[in-house]
Amino acid sequence: MNYSVAVVPGDGIGPEVTAKAVDVLDLVGDKFGHIFNFVELEAGGVAIDSTGEPLPAATLEAARQCDAVLLGAVGGPKWEGLPGSLRPERALLGLRAGLGVFANLRPAALLPQLRDACPLKDEVLTASHAGGKPTFDLLIVRELTGGIYFGERGRDGNEGAPDASAFDTERYSRREIERVLRVAYEAAAKRRSRLCLVDKANVLESSRFWREITAELAGEYGNIETSYMYVDNCAMQLVRAPGQFDVIVTSNIFGDILSDEASVLTGSIGMLASASIGEREAGRKYPPGMYEPVHGSAPDIAGKNLANPLAAILSAAMMLRYSFSLEKEARAVEAAITGALDKGLRTKDIVGKSGSTSEITAGTDEMAAAVIRVLEEREE
Ligand code: NAD
Repeated sequence: MNYSVAVVPGDGIGPEVTAKAVDVLDLVGDKFGHIFNFVELEAGGVAIDSTGEPLPAATLEAARQCDAVLLGAVGGPKWEGLPGSLRPERALLGLRAGLGVFANLRPAALLPQLRDACPLKDEVLTASHAGGKPTFDLLIVRELTGGIYFGERGRDGNEGAPDASAFDTERYSRREIERVLRVAYEAAAKRRSRLCLVDKANVLESSRFWREITAELAGEYGNIETSYMYVDNCAMQLVRAPGQFDVIVTSNIFGDILSDEASVLTGSIGMLASASIGEREAGRKYPPGMYEPVHGSAPDIAGKNLANPLAAILSAAMMLRYSFSLEKEARAVEAAITGALDKGLRTKDIVGKSGSTSEITAGTDEMAAAVIRVLEEREE
């Protein structure tokens, strides 16, 4: 198969890490008989420098024509003085809106090779893990374009008066809820077939609506086990027993908070990948999606061969899984990453997080080369 991938390297370490993800995708193509056509596009600070705009119309248009988008990171001190509408980070919002991606997928898994990066005790981790191991592997699916972050807001009354007030509104339509639930159910089907809706249905009407719609869809996805949990309990369960979760699906604001909480349990920001998924369009083989590491442009380490490329490579694996339904290929990339870690290689951000003394400090190039070597040597 042929796939077109828009590559938006961006600023700082963005170009360094996306180049490694592209190398890995090229190798996946060679090994599994696919062709990935890459279209490099400018966004962020680099686009401001060349066109005066963080997201040139030509970039968005070209990205929309591709099957998926791989983004590095945008921003940096050079552009910090610019007004909000001209800041590099506007490119992210513009791309998300322009691509119509409404579901944000953030995996949080504790790799045994990074055990010491997780602040939880062994007994806490093993208690909730089906295999009794000190680990967890969950996926948070966050609604990305609705709810209180986009609802009606405002202020009433005279400023300074005791009855002056401010408000934000949580409003979700059936369509918004149903489409993100479907993404979450389909993700659960590719994992351990369990989905937990996290809400505040004991208080919020909008949450009760989410529950009603989830209960309707639960019948349709009969092979997936559906459960419900209040968000306050979930915040606690993530640190008491994270192994109980497979897929968590939730609203924009709850997902924002819970995904940050979960990410702290996994170690370095240099390991965290994300996917933002849109709706299947008529005539397209698969929904367009945007894949990016969670980290920023890390100007402090840019150009020094210090950036951990694994988050970007894991983001490419998510692209294979969610945009192209290439599950075998996605797993091969993930296995190559754990293989490279098993060989002891560690970028600076993850050195000393395994509890092992046989670690080899690696730069961006060495780490990516190790992943590629393991992938090349794997028998599929
Ligand atoms: P950051 O994620 O860039 O860096 C935070 C810390 O983590 C730094 O010490 C950095 O060196 C380290 N780090 C980040 N990624 C790493 C990697 N792959 N390997 C090793 N270490 C890594 O966050 P920040 O410093 O708050 O932001 C820097 C710039 O990035 C700002 O301009 C910010 O607006 C932008 N930003 C962009 C995105 C994005 O493009 N999605 C996200 C967050 C921040």
